[in-house]
Amino acid sequence: MKPTSLKPLLTLILALLFLGAASLPALELSGRKVVIDPGHGGSDPGATGYDGPGKPNEADFNLAVSLKLRTLLQAAGCSVVMTRSTDVAVDLYARRDLVNAESPHAGLCIHCNSFSDPGAHGTETFWCLDYCNGVAAEDQDLATKVQNRLIQFLGRANRGVKRYNFVMCSPTPPSCLAEMLFVSNQAEFNLINSTVGQDNAAAAFFYAVCDRVGVTTPAAPSGLTATAASASQINLSWNDNSGLEHSYKVERATASGGPWTEIATTAANATTYASTGLSGGTTYYYRVRAYNSHLGNSAYSGTASATTQVSGAPSITSQPASRTVDPGSTVTFTVVATGNPTLTYQWRKNAVNLSNGGKYSGATTATLTISNVQQTEVGNYSVVVTNGFGATVSANAALAVNAVIAFYDDFESPAINWTNFVPPATALTVSTAQSVSPTRSAYVNSSLDRMYRNLGVSVDGRLRITAWIYDSTQTRSFVDVRGYTGGGYNQGSLVQLFCAGKYNTVTMPGETYDATKYQGRVVSGANNGWFNLNAPGAPARSAGWHKFVIERRADGTTVDFYVDGILSRTITGTTRSSLDSAAIGSVGTGSEVLGDSWIDDVKVEYFDLPQITTQPASQTVAAGGTATFFVETANTVTAYQWQKNGTNIAGATTSALVLSNVQDSDAGSYGVTVSNGAGPVVSATATLSVAPAIVAQPLSQTNSAGATASFTVTAAGQLPLTYRWQKGGVDLADGGNISGATTPELTLNAVSQADAGSYTVAVSNAVGGVISMPAWLV
Ligand SMILES: [Zn+2]
Repeated sequence: MKPTSLKPLLTLILALLFLGAASLPALELSGRKVVIDPGHGGSDPGATGYDGPGKPNEADFNLAVSLKLRTLLQAAGCSVVMTRSTDVAVDLYARRDLVNAESPHAGLCIHCNSFSDPGAHGTETFWCLDYCNGVAAEDQDLATKVQNRLIQFLGRANRGVKRYNFVMCSPTPPSCLAEMLFVSNQAEFNLINSTVGQDNAAAAFFYAVCDRVGVTTPAAPSGLTATAASASQINLSWNDNSGLEHSYKVERATASGGPWTEIATTAANATTYASTGLSGGTTYYYRVRAYNSHLGNSAYSGTASATTQVSGAPSITSQPASRTVDPGSTVTFTVVATGNPTLTYQWRKNAVNLSNGGKYSGATTATLTISNVQQTEVGNYSVVVTNGFGATVSANAALAVNAVIAFYDDFESPAINWTNFVPPATALTVSTAQSVSPTRSAYVNSSLDRMYRNLGVSVDGRLRITAWIYDSTQTRSFVDVRGYTGGGYNQGSLVQLFCAGKYNTVTMPGETYDATKYQGRVVSGANNGWFNLNAPGAPARSAGWHKFVIERRADGTTVDFYVDGILSRTITGTTRSSLDSAAIGSVGTGSEVLGDSWIDDVKVEYFDLPQITTQPASQTVAAGGTATFFVETANTVTAYQWQKNGTNIAGATTSALVLSNVQDSDAGSYGVTVSNGAGPVVSATATLSVAPAIVAQPLSQTNSAGATASFTVTAAGQLPLTYRWQKGGVDLADGGNISGATTPELTLNAVSQADAGSYTVAVSNAVGGVISMPAWLV
């Protein structure tokens, strides 16, 4: 129940605060009207109590109960009109006319009885007899409901529902007149003269009104919300739609369909509840209903749920994975993290935050997307995942970009004419990435004595040609590789892969290579540098297919010849800076039987050396601090190795070198070697300087006059460290009773009051200084 009339007022204020958008809640008795007629009053005291004339008398009791009833009704949203609300006399017919004018849902005339015999007692309620102006059955219904509730709440004898011609029984709207009890009876006088008696009488009329208008349960709460407040608490809130509830009952479940457990009973008018003692990361469901001890439970509110928080910083359940891609690719890095929401993400490259724009998108989401990847995007990517409890940094995911495939030809074209120099249709440069997936092989007609094809590749870095030579069981075949000078084929050094042979049948790929059957030799003479396989006199080869890899180093001086990946031969090539080219072709001696040999799937890869775009930076760190060196690079990097004073540091093989708790021994010069297939590049060196730091502060102390006092400091940092003790900020010097003024320990002999004060020590070295906290001598 709502024993206060504040609620409608507060609700109204709230409604106004929300610019009138909110409407008053429809309470149980909203839209209902009751006229309360407290009998007698003023010059008419009504019945005299058993204790004789004088207050309190019937009129006082009638008014007291009526005012309490008004409060109950208004709290439940009912409109209330009083025929009197103070101790005044009101004409009976005026009262009746007021009821008629107001046309209430009920008119309640509240009286007490009396009789000459003080033993007379009990409760009775009257409705109209001869002059009934309304619907008699409604009057009787109201009177019956009032009588029943008075019997229930006051517990006095039931004298019945009766008809009588009281004026106040005759208004048109449903009305009745209740004689609550006999004030001429001592027990009943005492009852109605008590708070509990008056409260019960008011409640009886209140519930009679509820009965009359069909309010059988409290109004259900609405708008239930559940919000996780912590790992163990969910806060509930709802709308209080009832004006008569005695409490709200809160139920909880761990599944949306229950089973439900009642976990709490709140006070009346509650609109919030904190559900505590919960398990973290668990979803709980709630519903609420209003309860009135006389009307029972309301319907349930809707169901609301919330998931309790999970304490701690986010946990990464799936790290971003390193990727190696072709140039021009789109790459995504994804992290999967769990933890208390809301998780936020910040992707980084080499520990530097990224923002969206250019090639980057999703820099603050769980997935980072990088478009058109080139060597400039090579680096270590990580993500910081943050929530209200902290931040977690993912592992690094390395992005590597494959070497540019400058040329790839599977020789599918039947129109190949290798007799003549055929420049490529399109000039191929390292920036023109091409990739062709061969679907079938093609052959070179070896009737041509000397065939080659200029691959048209300019070489600044390292060139690698991979070719597959197919042969059969025939007597001769060879592949020649040479660094070629002159001859008009091309300017500059030529790396040529030649093949000639005579074959009547073709053996498909798959046969195992037998290294013992391949021999190599360098042909002397004008073609110095030619490399012939299966030279005269060598053992006959097996049939099969064979993969050859020819590499030309970036310095242009040598060509390494690999058979099935095994370095077989290094050939000195002709150096011509910055412009090499590669050719592949066939040469025969002219004495072989004509036949076919097969060259297939020629791939020319081009590697750039790593390029250091950000050198490691020199830094000064206080002892105990953390030093971080990092290098940023362009082009693919396959390995990092940090060095200190020129010596490799074990395990320091990423783009960043982190030194924690640095000490004197860490001071030195640091550098890193970055490598890829084209070779190593050494960074500039950076210097780590270790400034002093106080490890143990001097301690304050109390000494008696004449005693010896000493202060000690422990400091760390790059050696040598120098010390200078100070008193009140003024440098001290040895002498008098002071010694050790430039050492870690200051001693004062035979201290006197003059020595009292604050002592500090300045510790410095070549790269910095620090002053201790003051220590007091008292
Ligand atoms: Zn009366």
